[in-house]
Amino acid sequence: MQSKNKKAPTAKEKRHIERVKELPCSVCDEQGPSDCHEIKQGQWFTSVALCQSCHTGSLMGLHGQKRAWAIRKMDELDALAVTVERLTP
Ligand SMILES: [Zn+2]
Ligand SMILES: [Zn+2]
Repeated sequence: MQSKNKKAPTAKEKRHIERVKELPCSVCDEQGPSDCHEIKQGQWFTSVALCQSCHTGSLMGLHGQKRAWAIRKMDELDALAVTVERLTP
């Protein structure tokens, strides 16, 4: 979500965000385009590729009851590791 007083991503950050969005979901492997979830607000280089269900789904999602995450025993850093691996040629 884009809040008003959040500073706009730099050109480099935008390129990174676009690459993250092309990846499959880092939790359930659902094909992209994915959402780009920021583990820490404004820190785009530690953002994670997530499908809508694993991201904002009220039951499965990280911003909900995190069931998809619990089933796989994953946290945000585990998902980040998957995203980074997939971005690495
Ligand atoms: Zn997913
Ligand atoms: Zn998010």
